[in-house]
Amino acid sequence: MIIRSINLETVCGVTSKLPENDKPEIAFAGKSNVGKSSLINGLMNRKSYARISAKPGKTQTINFYNINEQMYLVDLPGYGYAKVSASEKEKWGKMIERYLHQSKQLKAVFLLIDIRHAPGNNDKIMYHWILEQGYKPIIIATKLDKIKRSQIQKQLKILREGLEVLPGTEIIPYSSVTKQGREEIWNKIETEFLT
Ligand code: GDP
Repeated sequence: MIIRSINLETVCGVTSKLPENDKPEIAFAGKSNVGKSSLINGLMNRKSYARISAKPGKTQTINFYNINEQMYLVDLPGYGYAKVSASEKEKWGKMIERYLHQSKQLKAVFLLIDIRHAPGNNDKIMYHWILEQGYKPIIIATKLDKIKRSQIQKQLKILREGLEVLPGTEIIPYSSVTKQGREEIWNKIETEFLT
């Protein structure tokens, strides 16, 4: 994908009305600190357009980035930040669920999981929400540069088994440091969801 323009067009809070976009939307979900902002910046060839925060889970909004007036990258709120109340957590959950349920232009949902760790409960819940809404989650295993090459297959197996992924589920390893995986993600978006 050649990035010609990007524009953070809509920011939705818990009570905001969701936009009724007329172009395809590709969403990204994941636990706080998993590397979601870094991935979105990497996809957009920007260093810090999407928020990268030292305080994970602080901004709880759904952000719609208009790319080339052609499509949207949708940044869903990071979940699982320990320092917030149960009622706050529930609100985010509802917000994500509402978006997955309501969006008419949502074409695909990528779920980000840190390649170093076994998926947590929230990751499993998220994986199943995505499935329940009729989407086939595509997993991005983030922070690839943090493990040795010899560990990759083993970690991917832990990830696959932890989430109990459906057979045929794709897992794309990604590093925001080396940008390994970037082309694969864009190719997938362009060939499968924008045509
Ligand atoms: P978010 O909360 O999911 O948006 O996560 P961020 O993108 O803000 O990243 C959280 C932290 O992990 C930051 O300190 C990033 O610099 C770091 N990080 C994100 N992706 C990678 C990666 O692929 N490799 C390494 N080494 N660090 C990463």
